[in-house]
Amino acid sequence: MDTYDLLVIGGGPGGYACAIKAAKASMRVAIFEKESFGGTCLNVGCIPTKYLLDKAGNLEKIRTLTEAGIYKDAGMFNYGEIQRQKAKVVEKLVGGVNGLLKHHKVAIIKGEATLKANKVVECNGKQYAAENIVIASGSRPTMIPIPGVEHTITSTELLSIPTIPKRLVVIGGGVIGLELSSAFNSFGSKVAVIEMMDSLLPRELPKATEQLTKTLEKNGITFHLSARVNRIEKKDGVCKTIFTVGGKEVFVESEVVLMAVGRKPNSDCITADSKVVLTDSKLVKVDQYLETSVDGVYAIGDVIGGYQLAHAAYAEAESVVDTILAKDTKKSYDDSVMPRCVYTIPAFAAVGKTPEQAGVETAIGTFSYEANGMALAEEAKGSVYVIMDKQQKTTVGVQIVGEHAPELISLASAAVAKKFTLDDWEHLIIAHPSLSEMVREAALDAFKCALHKG
Ligand code: NAD
Repeated sequence: MDTYDLLVIGGGPGGYACAIKAAKASMRVAIFEKESFGGTCLNVGCIPTKYLLDKAGNLEKIRTLTEAGIYKDAGMFNYGEIQRQKAKVVEKLVGGVNGLLKHHKVAIIKGEATLKANKVVECNGKQYAAENIVIASGSRPTMIPIPGVEHTITSTELLSIPTIPKRLVVIGGGVIGLELSSAFNSFGSKVAVIEMMDSLLPRELPKATEQLTKTLEKNGITFHLSARVNRIEKKDGVCKTIFTVGGKEVFVESEVVLMAVGRKPNSDCITADSKVVLTDSKLVKVDQYLETSVDGVYAIGDVIGGYQLAHAAYAEAESVVDTILAKDTKKSYDDSVMPRCVYTIPAFAAVGKTPEQAGVETAIGTFSYEANGMALAEEAKGSVYVIMDKQQKTTVGVQIVGEHAPELISLASAAVAKKFTLDDWEHLIIAHPSLSEMVREAALDAFKCALHKG
């Protein structure tokens, strides 16, 4: 049996980050991957979606500039070429991860791994053992068991669809549903979203999510909220998605139906003999150190639930390696300041708490993109909301709707993590012109101190 210091099951963002960090600390590491390194994020998730959204967003901007008479006859695009270039970006990133693993002398074992009893991992008929094992096996799309579900496709298939569908129905108005709706709406599909809740992103600040919903609607996306899908019928290449809304059964037709109602954990690689305990929904149960019910066996990423985000997996990977390296002084994993981004057109990003979640009296400051020089120069629209603790005058949360929100949220994350006070914001010098100025102005506005606001 081959032995290592650390075995990692799964080569997505969580798994590969864990392997590299441990190898950099001189551990002997092996990583198991049955498909391509980079997992869902690099291959069929974040990166290809962002490639499509970037091209779709540019198209929207060109259309605005053409309508304003600044550009002329612009806005033609070659979707086949977009798909080819997207594949090249994915290939480059996957190659980069492979290169990094090899550079750090991580043993790469291609195949499907299974966790057995006594901390043994089996792959391609061979057995491997280690004192430390990290399960980072990820997740896959959930499909709701309705008649006609076989007529739907997942985000993986939609991302590589060779032609743009004339009409697209999206079941689920969560992160995946909204991002792909935005991309295909901008590429020219007529998009309808069917969402079971009565609002989008219900855990975020209602003012911000209402603004996002209205802007997406203005851009052409139709939302059916508080709606429950009953069945899908397909005839002559057209899908009829039948759903109940307001007590009535209605339908919407499309060439393509995307199922985007969440993801379920890939925990089939864990045998009962391993003694690793799963929850009722098959997530791996972990403690505050991300350790499972078995000593020395950890789990990170989508397979443990919580924030199913690549950057959460990266953070969990780093935390687990720190725990393994410093067994006596291990630190609990802290995800209290997690940026949450939706790469729609316009984008949405949030960090920290909403007033309802804060548990203290809060003051909300706002700042509009329309009062910011850089936003006006870039034709960017949106708003920044900063939630401050009214008494302590510290930063509790930030929500942004508008272009570059996922970039702006990094400044906000630092402010929430370090509990920036009104005084800190007042003394922070931010480059002009920049969109970041809006985050400071919104924080100051919570106490009516913003310079560029009445
Ligand atoms: P999600 O949980 O974000 O959204 C699923 C949505 O489907 C919810 O709004 C839910 O109310 C709705 N829904 C569930 N069952 C339904 C039904 N029967 N009919 C109609 N609506 C229904 O899940 P997702 O969008 O599939 O994304 C999966 C995971 O991947 C999430 O955790 C997400 O955060 C993550 N992800 C993140 C990013 C990002 O960070 N930008 C991008 C893509 C995916």
